[in-house]
Amino acid sequence: MLRASIRKELLMVHSILFSRCGDPGWWPGDTPFEVAVGAVLTQNTSWDNVERAIHNLKMKDLISPDRIVETPDEELVRLIRPAGFFNQKSVYLKEFSRFLSDRFSGRVENLGSVPLERAREELLSVKGIGKETADSILCYGASLPVLVIDAYTWRFLERFLGGSFPEGVRKGDYDSLQSFLMGELSGDALFYNRFHALLVLLSKDHCRKTPACGSCPLSAICSFGMGVGNRTK
Ligand code: SF4
Repeated sequence: MLRASIRKELLMVHSILFSRCGDPGWWPGDTPFEVAVGAVLTQNTSWDNVERAIHNLKMKDLISPDRIVETPDEELVRLIRPAGFFNQKSVYLKEFSRFLSDRFSGRVENLGSVPLERAREELLSVKGIGKETADSILCYGASLPVLVIDAYTWRFLERFLGGSFPEGVRKGDYDSLQSFLMGELSGDALFYNRFHALLVLLSKDHCRKTPACGSCPLSAICSFGMGVGNRTK
């Protein structure tokens, strides 16, 4: 089978998933800062656990950078305990809150006041903020045109493309996949927001560890779903 351009296929993926699921409306959170707090807390845990931790913070009216910084360490640790790795994450939350206050007047939206690459570099310099977390904050908190790459993205794409990655993409190399996908998709902030969110939903509902291809809306265009394996370029 001859493959259409990957760009066309990826746009088809977006179109099929969007028509099936609609706008996922990501990321859950009442404010951009709450979105960023969720992005920090969700590292290595489930979203249910994050929600419990955020609920605790909300009950104490702590969803603000200043309030997080002012909160005694032991109190913050206690409140975010449901999210796991609470000692580390309390440090990360405080570091991020200090950074945001010092550099961006405490507003996640202000990350857009500097060039995107610089905002990303600055975020990555904050203790506990890795690439996926930084990009989640930029995309979902600050509404900037960045595509988040995560384990779901890798798993889906490897199956979709039949076990191989495009030239220049090294398996596990975050930047190479992000740069490839953003180059192919050339989307805006809303497109990247939806594309990533739709892939997460797909990965939870169908493209799980053991894929449920029979019920998957992409089965007619996915190499793995079609049983094609490596496709002819
Ligand atoms: S068809 Fe199967 S492998 Fe392909 S995206 Fe759907 S669930 Fe994943």
